[in-house]
Amino acid sequence: MKARFSYLFFLVSWISFLTPAMAQEKMPSYVLVIHGGAGTILKKNMTPEKEAAYKASLKKALETGYRVLQSGASSLDAVEATVKVLEDDSLFNAGKGAVFTHDGRNELDAAIMNGKTKAAGAVAGVTTVRNPITAARAVMEKSEHVMLVGPGADKFAKEAGLVIVDPSYFRTETRWNDLQRALKDDSIAALKTHVSNSPGKLGIKNRDYKFGTVGAVALDKQGNLAAATSTGGMTDKKFGRIGDSPIIGAGTYANNETAAISCTGWGEFYIRNVVAYDLSALMEYKGYTVQQAGKTVIKKVGDMGGDGGLIALDKKGNMTMSFNTEGMYRGSVTKDGKIEVFIYKD
Ligand code: ASP
Repeated sequence: MKARFSYLFFLVSWISFLTPAMAQEKMPSYVLVIHGGAGTILKKNMTPEKEAAYKASLKKALETGYRVLQSGASSLDAVEATVKVLEDDSLFNAGKGAVFTHDGRNELDAAIMNGKTKAAGAVAGVTTVRNPITAARAVMEKSEHVMLVGPGADKFAKEAGLVIVDPSYFRTETRWNDLQRALKDDSIAALKTHVSNSPGKLGIKNRDYKFGTVGAVALDKQGNLAAATSTGGMTDKKFGRIGDSPIIGAGTYANNETAAISCTGWGEFYIRNVVAYDLSALMEYKGYTVQQAGKTVIKKVGDMGGDGGLIALDKKGNMTMSFNTEGMYRGSVTKDGKIEVFIYKD
């Protein structure tokens, strides 16, 4: 009798001990982190109006993603909705407001990845899809492929029923003027000289014609991670150039076991360093924290001569926003709804 009573007591104690722990397990904190591009963003070159406009846009994107996460929807839904807001905002180099190619076109790249299943989708060089991030998601969910490029990707998006626009929709005067400036100090001959004068470096003289790529990483109530990145690439890009953003493992990556990552910066260096996957691998194989891994990969990019930044979020909601440029448009919202947005280094 006594033995049975002690057993019962033991059982009840364990149940009351386990229940709160299990409840906590089931409800990881949900978080969303975004970026709107990295580069030489200096306070002295910024007007108060412009600064306020950027901050308001970042806040709007965070609020949108937060509402999605709060409703219990997936991190995938959250990153897509968030990036869509930034694509529709002409301040950023993604969707409307994308930079121009050498030939005066807007060619857009985007990628999305599901950290739970490691499913991924990407489009590159699209010219008619209003929201390239939605096209990337359609590639992931409605095709048997991971990456579609050029007219084929545009055709796929149309057949998938996405919103198609005339290419002129993406045009803004600011980006057009950026191209005119870039064209002035650009010629194949000048680039060749530049490349041969700086071995190991790349032939892009003014890296700051590329500002404003956008990205989002999120952790949802179910504990799943997702990442999304969208960009117009770099002003004056030629010959069908594609950057890191739509390349899974370079500019975009998500794995529930490690982190969700979205990069921005001089794409060629991000491709060569496989930055997003490298960050994940440092966590997986070396046990680095997300912050340590973020710092390490950005240093590698810098040591090679590249610049830029990244956002990353792990399954516990730990985040990092690392960059080696003067600034990076960035922000986060945590489970309690607290929104923070930053532009400069400090
Ligand atoms: N990484 C992008 C690219 O190289 C540009 C950027 O993030 O600013 O296409």
